[in-house]
Amino acid sequence: MTEQVSIEKALNDATTQLRAVSESARLDAELLLARSIDVPRSYLFAHPGDTLDAAALDRLGQTLGRRLAGEPMAYITGIKEFWSMELIVSPATLVPRPETELLVEIALRDIPRKADWPLLDLGTGSGAIALALARERQLCSVTAVDVSQDALAVARENANRLMISNVEFLAGDWTSPVAGRTFKVIVSNPPYVASGDKALERLRAEPLAALAAGTDGLDSIRILARDCTAIIDDGGMLLLEHGAEQQDQVARILLSYGWQHIQCYDDYSGHPRVSSAIFRSSETT
Ligand code: GLN
Repeated sequence: MTEQVSIEKALNDATTQLRAVSESARLDAELLLARSIDVPRSYLFAHPGDTLDAAALDRLGQTLGRRLAGEPMAYITGIKEFWSMELIVSPATLVPRPETELLVEIALRDIPRKADWPLLDLGTGSGAIALALARERQLCSVTAVDVSQDALAVARENANRLMISNVEFLAGDWTSPVAGRTFKVIVSNPPYVASGDKALERLRAEPLAALAAGTDGLDSIRILARDCTAIIDDGGMLLLEHGAEQQDQVARILLSYGWQHIQCYDDYSGHPRVSSAIFRSSETT
């Protein structure tokens, strides 16, 4: 009594179900089905009439169940593309977002091609930002810090797989592993969601510590604005990703710790998403 299920039917059924949780239901269905029969996505379009065996249907059912329960595609497939790099991700790391590429882009605008600067990424997660910078500026030495050893293991594996060697990974809380050193550019995509924000429910598969930061979502940004003043070179730049409605508060926090020339940049959806600031030690003494 086993029903014959074709690729086309499986795709249509999965797409219908995924619409409840995903804005890219068809693509998700294609990726999950292609994985369950271990073929490239293009195979599905060329062979819509092929029937799926019970094992393939079972594999599809399992991954579909995970996706329907709210797990991001990247945790199911284990990979996410960022800055044209294929990165490994795990539930220990935030899934790199396309909007974070803006932070990389802005950092690169201010780092000359031939610069051999020390750069720092705080809260590196999967290593996305640090690896993008290291790859684009091969003479720079990038330090990437994360408090989670599990996240750092993922970041190190990404560096190895991508054969990026100008990056070191250090475990610790924010600036503590680099105390006494200074950097020309410091970047961070810290947690910035308010702890009571309903968005956290939608993001529940991802590490809460990488997302939530106190009642106003600004606790980590306050720590960074304060502590980075001790490890920034004179004239160095801090670049922070933040929430779409945090632009003014972030600017106030940065100013209160002596940062200057604060600028904010919109992401590709038009939301103010990244703020930059310069620190001049001479003018604050
Ligand atoms: N941009 C993420 C989101 O709201 C949050 C990332 C973060 O807190 N760093 O989906």
